[in-house]
Amino acid sequence: MVWNRAASTAVWHHSNAYPKPGAREFKKGAPMAVSDHVDLEKFMEGVKKRNPGQTEFIQAVQEVAQDIFDFIEDKEEYHEAQILRRIAEPDRVVSFRVCWEDDDHNIRVQRGWRVQNNNAIGPYKGGIRFHPSVTESVLKFLAFEQTFKNSLTGLPMGGAKGGANFNPKGKSESEVMRFCQSYMTELYRHIGPSTDVPAGDMGVNGREIGYMFGQYKRITNRWEGVLTGKALEYGGSVMRPEATGYGAVYFLCNMLADKADAIEGKTAVISGAGNVATHAAEKVCQMGGKVLTLSDSDGFVHDPDGIDLDKIEWVKWLKNEKRGRISEYVEEFTNAEYHEGQRPWNVPCDLALPCATQNELNEDEARTLVDNGCMAVSEGANMPTTHDGVKVFHDAKIMYGPGKAANAGGVAVSGLEMSQNSERISWNKERLTDMLTSLMADIHDKCVEYGRENGDDGYIDYVKGANIAGFKKVADAMLAFGAV
Ligand code: NDP
Repeated sequence: MVWNRAASTAVWHHSNAYPKPGAREFKKGAPMAVSDHVDLEKFMEGVKKRNPGQTEFIQAVQEVAQDIFDFIEDKEEYHEAQILRRIAEPDRVVSFRVCWEDDDHNIRVQRGWRVQNNNAIGPYKGGIRFHPSVTESVLKFLAFEQTFKNSLTGLPMGGAKGGANFNPKGKSESEVMRFCQSYMTELYRHIGPSTDVPAGDMGVNGREIGYMFGQYKRITNRWEGVLTGKALEYGGSVMRPEATGYGAVYFLCNMLADKADAIEGKTAVISGAGNVATHAAEKVCQMGGKVLTLSDSDGFVHDPDGIDLDKIEWVKWLKNEKRGRISEYVEEFTNAEYHEGQRPWNVPCDLALPCATQNELNEDEARTLVDNGCMAVSEGANMPTTHDGVKVFHDAKIMYGPGKAANAGGVAVSGLEMSQNSERISWNKERLTDMLTSLMADIHDKCVEYGRENGDDGYIDYVKGANIAGFKKVADAMLAFGAV
């Protein structure tokens, strides 16, 4: 996808800052150019050079850049202002040491981050992840994606992400508490209700949010809506725990409805067994579908009888209270099988919902899903399908809802939690359910607006639709601000 501009001699100095109008800076010795466009390949070369070894971040930028380059081809103002170049450079990356003491009085040292990618349309907003796989690259990719996702919700939220390479698994309650307090002891300087409002993500659920909120309040002596995902007793919103998983299923419903189809009577394969996966499974069951699998990082369970609402309640207890492993499912429900070290994508199904982690569904697995008759994929997790896997779905023309659109329900209800905190009021479940349902329908419609391909079959490229719709709002706000 090469930039086919007449002025092919144009060379825009890659490493420069945004120039003052009328004072463009060109590479020394380069011909006087009439255009400041670079092609996609050159753009990505620059991204790779500036972010060495950050494979997840580069993968995320590449996926968005392809679509944006097509969209802005004839839109000079975005080129002149170097908008994509600026969105792909976080506003700030804060990295810090997190010291804590374990139960045996050993001093432990972890690395913590907050990546504030872009606040053009609202305060930074995005989850905190505690997982041993957390790196700066992973958080930069997540903060970049979050910028587009938050824009798609239509709510005033910028994009950020944070976390630490801390593994809450196997830690005692007091170890988790001490770690959360230590993490917040640095983080509190960088956040605030109009600055940056973090939430939960992998390894950070109600318990961790509680410890972090308590520490923020202790340090600042302020009660304010600085975190979302709080418990109902202290400013949380109903529907927030359910919102990401339910939202991914609502998005799936909207994709199916576009083809005059529905979830009822269909089988679904779901990965993960955490917050997103269990709520996605719950909503699929409520809509008359049959859930066949759940998983964790050790393996997956396949229950041919279906993982019904009672079994899902049991999994929630297993994960949130007992803090056990999904392998224990087969001891409780003996008709099910456990597959150690495997992922669930070879189980034949109509619908697939990857709800665990990034890059958990590769090209071969995508092909197996398609060959087995899977008709739609809705991503509860962030970037769970590899680049080549996405291509398989597109080539097969099956419905494919990327995470930045399909899982945006979580941050959308987080945005609504911020509104409730500002108003010092709590809305009821009916109101929030209606709002989540219509937000997901709006996100779907925006993807259709920018993603429907010309041609007889009217195939909808939801990736392209989400990228362009998400980009446009942020880009237009940035144009209004000038070179900042
Ligand atoms: P949880 O920590 O509640 O659950 C994560 C689940 O994924 C666990 O079952 C975990 O298993 C599994 N998992 C982690 N790593 C792997 C791996 N390498 N292979 C297979 N399974 C793995 O997290 P959430 O449910 O909150 O988040 C899941 C995904 O959804 C993430 O991508 C997150 O960014 C995304 N998301 C979450 C939102 C939210 O509101 N929570 C909002 C939007 C997106 P194990 O216990 O073995 O680690």
